[in-house]
Amino acid sequence: MDIYVRQGDSLWYYSQLYGINIQLIIDSNRGIQPNQLSAGQRIRIPGFIAQNYQIRHGDSFWGIAQSRNLSLDALLLANPNINPNRLQIGQTIRVPLRITWRLVQGKQHYDFSRMISDIGRLQSVYPFLRLTGIGNSVLGNRLSEILIGNGDKRVHYNASFHANEWITTPILMTFLNDYCLSLTNSNSIRGLSTFPLYSQTMLSLVPMVNPDGVSLVMNGPPENETWRKRVMELNRGSTDFSGWKANIRGVDLNDQFPARWELEKARNPGKPGPRDYGGEHPLSEPEAIAMADLTRRRDFARVIAFHTQGEVIYWGFENLEPPESEILVNEFSRVSGYQAVKTIESYAGYKDWFIQDWRRPGFTVELGTGTNPLPLTQFDEIYEETLGIFLAGLYM
Ligand SMILES: [Zn+2]
Repeated sequence: MDIYVRQGDSLWYYSQLYGINIQLIIDSNRGIQPNQLSAGQRIRIPGFIAQNYQIRHGDSFWGIAQSRNLSLDALLLANPNINPNRLQIGQTIRVPLRITWRLVQGKQHYDFSRMISDIGRLQSVYPFLRLTGIGNSVLGNRLSEILIGNGDKRVHYNASFHANEWITTPILMTFLNDYCLSLTNSNSIRGLSTFPLYSQTMLSLVPMVNPDGVSLVMNGPPENETWRKRVMELNRGSTDFSGWKANIRGVDLNDQFPARWELEKARNPGKPGPRDYGGEHPLSEPEAIAMADLTRRRDFARVIAFHTQGEVIYWGFENLEPPESEILVNEFSRVSGYQAVKTIESYAGYKDWFIQDWRRPGFTVELGTGTNPLPLTQFDEIYEETLGIFLAGLYM
């Protein structure tokens, strides 16, 4: 919600008036000088929208504010050009409305376009979210990163490296929404106040690493005739893409990282296909390159890649992980009920590369059980299991 500064107003006053932490207001208005507001300047108040309301017989500002649990001045501030003593029946005013419900409905067919639309809605209500483009997929879909928090500890979560594991995207988006809700309503999540997490960490989210693959699994082959023919061939003529994990060129993005890539190459298919092909060389695919570049640029303290399935958490790579990894994974395991597994015979994954090159904690979390794509009937259960990991990744 936008308001316009009056003479003598301050961000601190707005914070009190709307019950929103001042840091969230500052972070929602980047580029302004918090101590040098000028009259008429636009300020965005996170966690609120302005609803139109038509004045009826007998209405007063005081009564309207009272009935909505707002202070009178919160209502006056939202209506700078209206004289509260001369309200007219049928006149439209703006009434601040606190958002207390989820904007993201994750338990549905959650494809790339829905994610993009949800990111836009979240950012308009929660302008303290920062959105960056980290690259483009093979088909030119923009790869989005969302940043939340202004702390020093940089934490990264990603989802949908693998196409048919797309349920990880709405799970992560739902967490982002719940985190925003808890911050703007000062509600705890599982007894944990989240504002300290916000001020101590900067959380980076890439909710869909492989949008082309996800679209293939969810919506079928691309319109473009060349690509359509190509993916049908790679899929051995079948129109059933539910087993597809790779990107649109048939390269498995989680076998693309320079961490004993040759070993992974040797044990996997030698040509493109629905899964497990590691490419002609490490980091040949734009989606993998975007993730590598982002990771180098941000200098993350820890990373978690969300996959399905098996209810396990992989936390080691070639004994290169630091001792902290084991402490973290024990907590992740405790809060989710998932089993901690140090290593399996697998290389060239994103978390492998992160552990190898940074010697910092990196994890692959496998959500849920069953055949991919996991059914949405598992959504609520998976979310409950994962929520603890999302939080522990920040508070630990
Ligand atoms: Zn996977």
